[in-house]
Amino acid sequence: MNCIFCDIVEKRAKAEILYENDLVISFLDIRPVNYGHALVIPKNHYKDFLSMPKSELDEVIKITQKISSAVYNSLKPDGFNVITNNGTAAGQSVFHFHFHIIPRFTNDSFSFRPQLKNYENGTMKEYAEKIKSEIKL
Ligand code: 5GP
Ligand code: ZN
Repeated sequence: MNCIFCDIVEKRAKAEILYENDLVISFLDIRPVNYGHALVIPKNHYKDFLSMPKSELDEVIKITQKISSAVYNSLKPDGFNVITNNGTAAGQSVFHFHFHIIPRFTNDSFSFRPQLKNYENGTMKEYAEKIKSEIKL
């Protein structure tokens, strides 16, 4: 399987590594939205958020909070985003699960400016019912 993030984990490809342990590695994104844009990934290959086993997801989230704190305290941005893109339609381009930590500055180039919708009468409840019927704990 051809996966650039697996290559980074295995040190077959270079990366500016911020941190690693047995399960997780964090490195700088090669094409940052803002300088210091970091990625946090499981060392094992899972294609997306839904494929992550809970124990490894717990570790990825824990390390994502630690790296976010380091990005925030070292670079002093005005804020930061933690995001994960899932599926091509959502902007995913590397199909090895990862969180982005993106330092943000007031009036920087990055923006979500969606055309926000309104729910028609009653449809909000319909959407909630559909989703609730698939919640499996
Ligand atoms: P996605 O689009 O899947 O949410 O995010 C993938 C990210 O991986 C992109 O922001 C892209 O810049 C980054 N990326 C792709 N290839 C490499 C690489 O070889 N090295 C590093 N450090 N980042 C990469
Ligand atoms: Zn991979």
